Amino acid sequence: MTAVAVVGLGAMGSRIAARLLAAGQEVIVWNRSAEKTEPLTAIGAVAAATPAEAASRVGVLITMVADPAALRSVTEGPGGVAAGAGSSLLVVEMSTVGPAAVARLAAVLPQATGLLDAPVLGSRAEAESGSLVILAGGPAPLVDRVSPVLSALGSVLHVGSLGAGAAAKLVANAAHFGTLGALGETIALARGLGLQAEAAHRVLAATPLAGQDARRRAAIEAGEYPPRFRLSLAGKDARLIADAAAAAGVDMRLTTAAGTWLAEAEQAGLGDRDYTAMLTMIMGVGDRGPSRTRPDARPPTGGTGPAGYDGLIIDLDGVIWRGGDPIPGAADAIAAMRGRGTRVLFATNEPRRSRSALAARLAEIGIPATAAEEAREAEVAVVGGHEGFDYRELRAAVAAVRAGARLLATGRDAVFPMPDGPWPATGAILAAIETAGGVRAVVVGKPERIMFDMACEALSGCARIGVIGDHLTTDIEGARRAGLAAILVLTGLTSQADLDRAPVTPDLVLDSLAALPQAILARS
Ligand code: NAP
Repeated sequence: MTAVAVVGLGAMGSRIAARLLAAGQEVIVWNRSAEKTEPLTAIGAVAAATPAEAASRVGVLITMVADPAALRSVTEGPGGVAAGAGSSLLVVEMSTVGPAAVARLAAVLPQATGLLDAPVLGSRAEAESGSLVILAGGPAPLVDRVSPVLSALGSVLHVGSLGAGAAAKLVANAAHFGTLGALGETIALARGLGLQAEAAHRVLAATPLAGQDARRRAAIEAGEYPPRFRLSLAGKDARLIADAAAAAGVDMRLTTAAGTWLAEAEQAGLGDRDYTAMLTMIMGVGDRGPSRTRPDARPPTGGTGPAGYDGLIIDLDGVIWRGGDPIPGAADAIAAMRGRGTRVLFATNEPRRSRSALAARLAEIGIPATAAEEAREAEVAVVGGHEGFDYRELRAAVAAVRAGARLLATGRDAVFPMPDGPWPATGAILAAIETAGGVRAVVVGKPERIMFDMACEALSGCARIGVIGDHLTTDIEGARRAGLAAILVLTGLTSQADLDRAPVTPDLVLDSLAALPQAILARS
């Protein structure tokens, strides 16, 4: 019988490995935190030193990790699955990571290695009892080949070609989050209108929410949500759904709204609870209550240890300088945070100056920085606003796009702050090219996750990362999408009046970066 490796031994992976062992399978395990292999080696599993070693020793390798970044970390690099994969290996990717991460995995694995994406419906109990529904994407012969192994875990639904499983899982979770949000809001409405609980449940029983209400009623009444599917993982899924929908050009405003409840619940500290604890946010009950506090009254997400944050991603324009003039106190604030061991990375959508020019300017104003401390270059950036932009450039760009070139841009900011008022930014130029070119660009700068993911990779090892910026729709929105704490400074584009009307709320609002060390100390 083929040996099977399980890489990632969290709530789901550990149960999957135990289930395979119980079915008589030879199982090799690997987990980032090595101690999680122990309960499994005690019942017959063999621990591998690296995912690459696990890959080299088995015919089937299952990945079951938290998110796309985790998948990259276990599959890429010298110790990753791809490094140990050969032509007889079949990789079965079972995490919820979305189709883009599956496509990336396909690109990094050797061509001869088989790959299926096979995320699951069902939670811990279903993993334990072998009753998961496995949504498989990939060639039918590979699905057939792995079916004897997967049948120990549940039933396999072959939903299409590679990536279809990941897509199907996002579809299922969009349905779950929307339904749960609707349930919470309808019960909150019933309570708000003074309807008796019993009457409210009887009414819901006559609506499409009947099944959901019956399933959640006991938990709602007890106010207890035993952890099965961590709320922070559901928040990650909501962001994957939003990204995938945006890439596909699908308007998902209801699902996006449901995702904001998850995001708020996570910011309120419910990330380790079950995802259904988002009902406590909606209904304003439970131990946290609804999040209706002023933004600056909230503690920073991501920890309140002595230093508050151990990693900071900081915007330049409007935070460190304004139109080239240093913002008073910013250099001292950076020095104070660095003095406490906080690692600092600067991230800007500013396309007009090179990284080394920006690093030199930072050094000039007393903030040591190197251009080398950068994750990786964004893959391509076609449109980056600059002052020399003219009709000739517009014509060249439009001709290229109309001839089939892919349109990428560093950002969509309409303006950037200058001492004499806002100046047109990349978004303004991009709008001209999009209008004449008849296509919509893919943005690779803030608020897109890619930029923050790269920044987090560069800050790897940091457990509490905050994003500091002056712009609500790039810095703060981007921090939200990346699941990072968001700190707004009022020295740039955003005023207190803008903030009061804003659709996104930062975790912390400061008059200036100069106030950061004090604010962090006050909260620790
Ligand atoms: P979990 O308990 O949080 O486990 C996460 C796993 O990912 C752990 O093994 C963790 O390693 C690993 N990991 C996280 N970041 C990593 C990194 N940077 N590098 C290497 N490994 C990393 O999550 P889970 O509940 O098992 O869920 C796993 C996946 O299944 C997720 O994609 C989730 O959305 C999906 N899913 C979960 C459920 C559910 O009900 N729980 C249901 C369906 C689908 P450490 O132990 O070292 O932290």
